[in-house]
Amino acid sequence: MKKLSLIFLAVSVIVFASCKDKKQKEAEKDFNYASVEIPAFNADSAFAYVKNQCDFGPRVPESKAHKACGDYLVSFFKQYADTVIEQNFTSKLYNGKEVKGRNIIVSFNLASTDRALFSAHWDSRAWADNDADEKNHKTPIIGANDGASGVGVLMEIARCLKAKPTSVGVDIVLFDVEDQGCPEWDKTDIEDQSDWCLGSQYWAKNLHIPFYQAKYGILLDMVGYSNPLFVKESQSMYYAPSIMNKVWQIAKDKGYGNMFSDEQIGGVMDDHIWVNKDAKIPMIDIVQHDPTGSFFPYWHTVKDDITCISKNTLKAVGDVCLVAIYSAS
Ligand SMILES: [Zn+2]
Repeated sequence: MKKLSLIFLAVSVIVFASCKDKKQKEAEKDFNYASVEIPAFNADSAFAYVKNQCDFGPRVPESKAHKACGDYLVSFFKQYADTVIEQNFTSKLYNGKEVKGRNIIVSFNLASTDRALFSAHWDSRAWADNDADEKNHKTPIIGANDGASGVGVLMEIARCLKAKPTSVGVDIVLFDVEDQGCPEWDKTDIEDQSDWCLGSQYWAKNLHIPFYQAKYGILLDMVGYSNPLFVKESQSMYYAPSIMNKVWQIAKDKGYGNMFSDEQIGGVMDDHIWVNKDAKIPMIDIVQHDPTGSFFPYWHTVKDDITCISKNTLKAVGDVCLVAIYSAS
């Protein structure tokens, strides 16, 4: 993901000013977790799932590591979910080159029409274009935090859902080709930033089930660094404020108020934009992005490896998501 340009923010406010949705209010009512028994999120497992992805190497679309990791994720989720769908697609990168991608869609309790959507991206960036050392600017990143952390949390959530099924339906959509937007060293100017998030753009326009809907969505991105700050990202607050407020309240109630701040800051170009805009599902983004506008210190560098990952952070985010899921059951 990338910070949103001011142009995008201005346009989105004009075009989508009328999109605010009753569904947000309905979703808020459903988070009632005072007396709900919630499975324990195992941070050791989540950490191992993050490491397993990293061990394949950079998951750059069309690479061998990408294919192998995708196959691993599909077989992993098949152990726990009711169905796993692979959605193959072709999109165009910022430079016009075609790229093949694979979204992975994992569903629990398909009979329920009352559904929650959780997402993360599973590809890793082809270029460490933010690295302090210019020599690394064309080196692919491992993406332990930027990619694998969100997926690892969702893998552990899948294990919990199998252990304690819910009456609500849950879908986990792992988006591909999220992080292959125009590198900093390239002069191409894609004003609307639509060169990012290609997998979610495809999914939101080609839903895996016609007319698929979910009451709310939560996107996880960069949810593994130690002592993170998750602020209220502005596009999430624009599209789904009541969901964001409720999830942040859950975090405070669980004792994670030090990580989840009420500060609201500029938007992030991430998969939730397209899920809100095109699929019309109110989705928030839990993404490390502090009030100074910085992502975590090793964002888009070769140092985004497993040493960036804190079990405490994975646990905090996993706990908050599990409360959201089980309180609506
Ligand atoms: Zn990224």
